Amino acid sequence: MPKLYSISEVKKILNKHNLKANKSLGQNFLVDANIVHKIVDAADILNDDIVVEIGPGLGVLTCALAEKAKKVIAVEIDSKIIPVLKENVEPYENIEIVHADALKINFDALVKEKAFDDKEAFSYKLVANLPYYITSPVIMHMLTNKFNLNTMVIMVQLEVAKRIVAGPGSKDYGILSIAVQYYAEPKIVFKVPKTVFFPKPDVDSAVLKLSIRKNPAVDVADESLFFKVIRAAFANRRKKILNSLLCGIDLPKELIKKVLKDAGIDGMQRGEDLSLGDFAKLTDYVLRALSKT
Ligand code: SAM
Repeated sequence: MPKLYSISEVKKILNKHNLKANKSLGQNFLVDANIVHKIVDAADILNDDIVVEIGPGLGVLTCALAEKAKKVIAVEIDSKIIPVLKENVEPYENIEIVHADALKINFDALVKEKAFDDKEAFSYKLVANLPYYITSPVIMHMLTNKFNLNTMVIMVQLEVAKRIVAGPGSKDYGILSIAVQYYAEPKIVFKVPKTVFFPKPDVDSAVLKLSIRKNPAVDVADESLFFKVIRAAFANRRKKILNSLLCGIDLPKELIKKVLKDAGIDGMQRGEDLSLGDFAKLTDYVLRALSKT
């Protein structure tokens, strides 16, 4: 294991290679052994697990994952850091570095190519200290593509973690909470102070565990309409649901009122008061009304 557990060692490695942490790529390197091991523990890695890491950086988490997993496939966008990363992970034969933008990757195809025979059924874990500028896009890329993941253990900004786990009635509850909770069961495993990174970010973080559901949390006949209804409901948080739907769904007022009544929802409520189940019911009645117009 290369020495990556202190600010001075990380600085030394960067200087040696004439590199600087690239802010625009969200490069805040973990320098705390305890936090790295807590992340690995949270992922409950078994020795036959395949783990995907997004943004390995200098490889601190990559090496710790490789100690436990069968194979680690680490996807890094920064071509400048890759030679250093390769040098740092060199002692591990079970680490594969892929130079790519994680947002453009079909992870099932990648994992299949790197770790499984064609016919085998397979599943894998994602473990990452995510670059903060693309936290939500990465999470949604992994979930909406319905990749064969069973677990995601990810470091994100504390504020984003709170939004993801929030329930109805909370100020943090919104589209991100519903979208993630539709596909997964999220929980905050532990909070992380900004002092364990170099360079130090402006905000605190948290490690989130998402257990991916076999089937979505609620049944909906039309998934894209479900998300359209949710976007309409949260387009203006202060608006009542009746007015939100009037703006976002192409139905006359009388039909919107009927849809709400049939779904058992008070039109004077706001989007933030409604549960996933309420949104699912609402979507099914909206679909029925739309198909009759
Ligand atoms: N895992 C390392 C650690 O914990 O010290 C580095 C984490 S750092 C917060 C985020 C890493 O993601 C950086 O190495 C950055 O270059 C990489 N990254 C940024 N955007 C990316 C993308 N679209 N695809 C893959 N990697 C990306």
